Amino acid sequence: MEKILVVGFVEGDGSAGRGLLEAVGAARELSAALGGAAFEIGLVGEQVAPAANALAGAGAVRILGASGSDFAQPRYATDAAAAEALARASAATLIVGTGTSRWARVAAGMAHRLGGQVDTHVTGLAVESGAVQATRWYYRQRMMGRLSRTARPWVVSLDPGTVAPWSGAAGTATVESVAVALDDSARRTQVTGVRTPDAGGGSTIRPEADVLFVAGAGWTKKQADGQPHPERAQELILDFVAKAKASLGSSKSLVDQKGEGQAVLTCLSHLNQVGQTGSTPRHPKGLATCCHGEEPHVVGWRFINERRAVNLDANCGWAQGKADVLYVADAFAVMEKVNALLTK
Ligand SMILES: Cc1cc2nc3c(=O)[nH]c(=O)nc-3n(C[C@H](O)[C@H](O)[C@H](O)COP(=O)(O)OP(=O)(O)OC[C@H]3O[C@@H](n4cnc5c(N)ncnc54)[C@H](O)[C@@H]3O)c2cc1C
Repeated sequence: MEKILVVGFVEGDGSAGRGLLEAVGAARELSAALGGAAFEIGLVGEQVAPAANALAGAGAVRILGASGSDFAQPRYATDAAAAEALARASAATLIVGTGTSRWARVAAGMAHRLGGQVDTHVTGLAVESGAVQATRWYYRQRMMGRLSRTARPWVVSLDPGTVAPWSGAAGTATVESVAVALDDSARRTQVTGVRTPDAGGGSTIRPEADVLFVAGAGWTKKQADGQPHPERAQELILDFVAKAKASLGSSKSLVDQKGEGQAVLTCLSHLNQVGQTGSTPRHPKGLATCCHGEEPHVVGWRFINERRAVNLDANCGWAQGKADVLYVADAFAVMEKVNALLTK
């Protein structure tokens, strides 16, 4: 019988972040699909009680904790040792991680120390004929594969946004403290600060937003009056993004223009790029504007559930089955109207 352990690094204030709640949601579903396999939660952080209390009603058989000042900062040596200690204390056969950078840094090392195997970017866990299967995408989200492994423990890293987070009433949890053997060499690395990339677009990238707004190169092209209007384009885009609390994406052509000496939107950088060589964000809805909808771009829309596009060209890529709704219209006029409606 499988035994599941969720390993979660708590937030700076000790709370459970969304990734941890999603991993717990996945573990609960897997436990049920396995006919009630036991699942446990292992928490790492300076103080883990707030997260443990938030997860008190999740149905875990035990909540284990590796806590103390050694685990306040994300650091390979101490994090890997803590994750390994939790896994050994649990003796779980399946270990589910939370898809954060802190977990991603240690998942493979931990699996190696345990003599197990690891799979990253997993987007779903299911049971088929009694065997656990993990789903993941290959070749930049073009092909989906399902795999199972016989090696145990099997460590999987769940991609954020793929599973419904567990939600339930908080309670008072008992945390079983797990000792982690550390020598001074494990404490050599110190995190001295955090820098957020701010290449202009950093603060407009909102992974939790309901809507992804994508700007294409058309915003900077010559319009009906024979002139480009990049300043107006930027005003309209940023106005919508602020009012709709949307996340801002871009096509590659638009962000490449900076290096090509063309009119540019200064609110965008390569961090905003969606597509084959960009990102594959996850949002319930997406609106593409002034973007042609070519395959290397649209492949980045794999996880956008409802897609709409605004384009002057009725034969653009979005019309070839890539969008649910295509508005054949001038995006300047459409967004002006939409922003006015959002102001009311
Ligand atoms: C290996 C490889 C990897 C790639 N990776 C990526 C990637 O990660 N992401 C990516 O985006 N691309 C990628 N590309 C490039 C991709 O193929 C396209 O070239 C790019 O997406 C085109 O960008 P665009 O649609 O913004 O611009 P364009 O193709 O120039 O389209 C502009 C559109 O704007 C419309 N338009 C103009 N004015 C208006 C208006 N007023 N109202 C409405 N519509 C208007 C036009 O009708 C046109 O359809 C990749 C290409 C290759 C070969």
